[in-house]
Amino acid sequence: MFKKDKFTATKACVLGWGKSGRAAAALLAANGFEVLISEEAAIPAPAAASLAKGITVETGGHSGRVFDCGFWIKSPGISPRHPILLEAKKRAIPVFSELEMALSFMPKSIRVFAVTGTNGKTTTTALLGEILKEHALRENKGRQVHICGNIGNPVSLCAPAVKSGDDIVIEVSSYQLEDSTYFRPHYACILNVTPDHLDHHGGMKGYIKAKAKVFKNQRENDFLVVNGADTVCAQLVEKAKSEVLAFSTHPKHLLKTDVFFDGDELIFSEGHQIRPPHLKGIHNVENAMAAALMALAAGVKADTIQRVFDRFEAMEHRIEQFAYHRGVIYVNDSKATNLDSTITALKSFEKTRNIWLILGGRDKGASYEVLIPYLKDYCKCVLTIGEAMDKIEAELHEAVPLLRCETLEKAVQTAMQRAVRGEIVLLSPACSSFDQFKDFEHRGKIFKQLVNARIFKDRMDGNQ
Ligand code: ADP
Repeated sequence: MFKKDKFTATKACVLGWGKSGRAAAALLAANGFEVLISEEAAIPAPAAASLAKGITVETGGHSGRVFDCGFWIKSPGISPRHPILLEAKKRAIPVFSELEMALSFMPKSIRVFAVTGTNGKTTTTALLGEILKEHALRENKGRQVHICGNIGNPVSLCAPAVKSGDDIVIEVSSYQLEDSTYFRPHYACILNVTPDHLDHHGGMKGYIKAKAKVFKNQRENDFLVVNGADTVCAQLVEKAKSEVLAFSTHPKHLLKTDVFFDGDELIFSEGHQIRPPHLKGIHNVENAMAAALMALAAGVKADTIQRVFDRFEAMEHRIEQFAYHRGVIYVNDSKATNLDSTITALKSFEKTRNIWLILGGRDKGASYEVLIPYLKDYCKCVLTIGEAMDKIEAELHEAVPLLRCETLEKAVQTAMQRAVRGEIVLLSPACSSFDQFKDFEHRGKIFKQLVNARIFKDRMDGNQ
């Protein structure tokens, strides 16, 4: 386990100059550690004067200096099979996750909530965080609620502000879990487990193993919330020591569930009835169930949850309907970076084959063939973009009409020229964005900009 006192005499190495790597280095430096950030990519090194005291940075490769450090913090994106990590193992250098290291700088008497799963993490984390904030406001004025992790706020950034008695809600990715050994959330949740990041984890087995770490160290009085209709979740809970609570919107579920949806309200086994938030898609009912089960287990009242659900609005880049022009609806689901989330997005529309779907980006290793029945039911045409184009075309060309567009710009142009009244243009790419964009937020913003600029031009030209 990372115990700061055990390492005070040594230098720290942070592998990776990313958002969480920089935050980890800042936290370690603020606590008196000398830190070397070592980045493989040949990016320009930041000026020494811009760095906090105690931090040095090397870029363009890992030098021998990394082996002079007593412990390493690994950025989540780095492959566990990277030669530098295999070398660290040989030399018995302890390697920790940013998550585990940051938690060790927090007081012991806090409640840790962790949300993981293939899809729905950010929405559920945001819902739960808002509920706990509302609860603190109404019932426990001294308690602060910190929302962090993959949601865009590294745990290390949040650590200095955490005080005894606070709640911390963490969106945890499989990458962070894979690198953690002793992580023990008091309230954990696995929303669903479907194929994703298979290239990184070396297959489905490795991915499931990483997800299971969210509850591995839980104890009897901790809680684990899972999707009762998910085959992987149902198998995993057999190993849980904590109290398991399950949710499902499916009539066929594999675990006894603690909440169901009657089409209008969530009905809990303890008798509470709560209307879900006004968000599109049955998947969001599931996210709401998960957040509510965690909150109820933590002593939040049903009417506090209802207040938050009533005011909660759709999040950017998640089936976000942002424009309506000449009878066509434009939807940004840039956050759909895997096949399952694209299927979820399609299922949230009617089966009228009226969707122009923009698909592609950086491939993540799984086959696109699982999309075929959904494309046939929901889509008029698929517009392909990015590195994954050839693979998508090879796997889907017999199933639906495809248009090769290469870039998002070309895809928007084509879709806007061809879509007619009553149709939908949907960006739900099933791939990561890194081939052509900084991240999924960047991709979503560019998509909205391209559409809005064309709508503006059309209006100026007098075409309503
Ligand atoms: P994550 O943080 O896990 O990527 P988000 O809450 O950001 O999840 O949602 C991303 C996309 O995943 C959504 O736009 C939707 O298409 C899909 N999604 C969200 N929640 C679920 C769910 N519970 N089950 C399946 N798919 C979901």
